Amino acid sequence: MIYQRSSALFAEAEKVIPGGVNSPVRAFKGVGGTPIFVKEAKGAYLYDEDGNRLIDYINSWGPMILGHAFEPVVKAVVEKAKKGTSFGMPTEIETKIAELAVSMVPNIDKIRFVNSGTEACMSAVRLARGFTGRDKIIKFAGCYHGHSDSFLIQAGSGASTFGTPNSPGVTQGTAKDTLLANYNDIENVKALIASNPNEIACIIIEPVAGNMGCIPPKEGFLEALRQLCDTNRILLVFDEVMTGFRLAKGGAQQLFNINADIVCFGKVIGGGLPVGAFAARNEIMNHLAPLGPVYQAGTLSGNPLAMAAGLAMLTALNNDSEIFNRLAEKTEYLHKGMAKVLNDNKITHTINRVGSMISVHFSEGEVTDFNSSAKGNNATFKAFFHGMLKEGVYIAPSAFETWFITDALTYEDLDFTIKAVDKVAQTL
Ligand code: PMP
Repeated sequence: MIYQRSSALFAEAEKVIPGGVNSPVRAFKGVGGTPIFVKEAKGAYLYDEDGNRLIDYINSWGPMILGHAFEPVVKAVVEKAKKGTSFGMPTEIETKIAELAVSMVPNIDKIRFVNSGTEACMSAVRLARGFTGRDKIIKFAGCYHGHSDSFLIQAGSGASTFGTPNSPGVTQGTAKDTLLANYNDIENVKALIASNPNEIACIIIEPVAGNMGCIPPKEGFLEALRQLCDTNRILLVFDEVMTGFRLAKGGAQQLFNINADIVCFGKVIGGGLPVGAFAARNEIMNHLAPLGPVYQAGTLSGNPLAMAAGLAMLTALNNDSEIFNRLAEKTEYLHKGMAKVLNDNKITHTINRVGSMISVHFSEGEVTDFNSSAKGNNATFKAFFHGMLKEGVYIAPSAFETWFITDALTYEDLDFTIKAVDKVAQTL
C-alpha cells in the first residue's frame, strides 16, 4: 500500500501540532513509520487519504461498536446541529439519555455527563474523596483512567508505549496519594489497605483491563475487591469507559454480577462524539454540586450534538436483544481462527478475550497483569502490525491495546483477517 499523502500530511501536521497528533499513540511511535490519515469511514472500513481501504479493529478506540457512520447516529447529529450546537442551558435530551442509561445499567440512580473518559474518572475520584473524607486511592499498574494527574502513575495505553509511567508535571504530592497494586493480585490490595488504615477513599479498576492488552479479571478477583471495599468503607469505582455498553447492556457490572459504587463511562456512550459520564446511587451522586459540596462542571457538558449521538447509539443497543451475543460470537470466531493459524505457523502467542474485546500477545504463558503483558515480544508485534497493515487490516499501533470488534464486521471480513494473520505469521 502507498502512504504518500498520509506521509505528506503528517509532515505538515508535525510543524504545528506536537508530534503531529492530538493524542500520543496515534503517532506510531511504538511501531515505527508514519501514521495513516483517515479521509472517511463507513461500517467496518476506514478509507485513508491515499485511497487505501482498511478493515478497522480499533474503531476510534472503542466507540464505534455498530460500525463507522452508523446511520441513526449521523442522522441524529445532523438534525440536532441545525437547531444550534451549544446553549449552556438545560435541554430535554440530557434527561432522555440519562433515563435510558440509568435503565440499562444496574445499581445507578443518577448520571452526570462530561466530555471525555478522563473527565469522568477524574470527577469520580473527587466524588469518592468528597464522599468518604479520605485522600488516598488504589489503582492498578497498567490500568489507564485518562490523563489526569492522579492516574499517571504506571498507567497503561500510550503511557506504557512511551515508557514514561510517571509523567513530568505530576507532583510528588499528588503521586503519594495514588497507591499502586498489581492487577489480579488480591493479597497486594489487602496489604495496601492494611498499611493505610482508614485512608483509602476508593479502589478504581478497569473491570476488564483494556490498556495493557485485554486482561480479564481472574475468577473471584472482583468479588474479593467488593468485599474488601465493604469491610473497609472504601468505594469501588469501575472504570467502564471501555467495557460500558460493550460487554453487556449494563457493562461489566452486569456481566460479572458485581455492583460498583461509582461507574465511569466514555467511548460507546457518546456514539463517537466527545462524551464521558459518571454514575452512582443517589446517596453518592447527591454529594455533587449543586446538591452537595463536591464541585464539578463543564461548559460543553451535555452538549446537544453529543447527547443526540449518544442517545441514538444507546437506543440502538437497547433495542437489539442479540447485539452483545452477536459481538461475542464474532470475536470468538476471530480468536479461534487467529489461534489456529498462529499455532500452525508455530508463533508463540497468547490471545485474551472478553466479549468483543480481544488482544494478541506475542509471549508464552498467561497474560494476567502489567508485568506479564510487558513480556510480549515487541519486535514481533511491530512486524505483525506492519504486515497486517500491508494486507489491509488496521490494528492498534501498540502492543498494549485491545482490539474492539464491531457489529459491522462480517464473517467474510473476519475470514479475510484470519487469512491475513496466516500470511503475516509466515513472515514473522
Ligand atoms: N478509562 C479507560 C478505561 C480508557 O480506556 C480511557 C481511554 N482509552 C480513558 C479512561 C480516558 O478516556 P478519554 O480518552 O476519553 O479521556
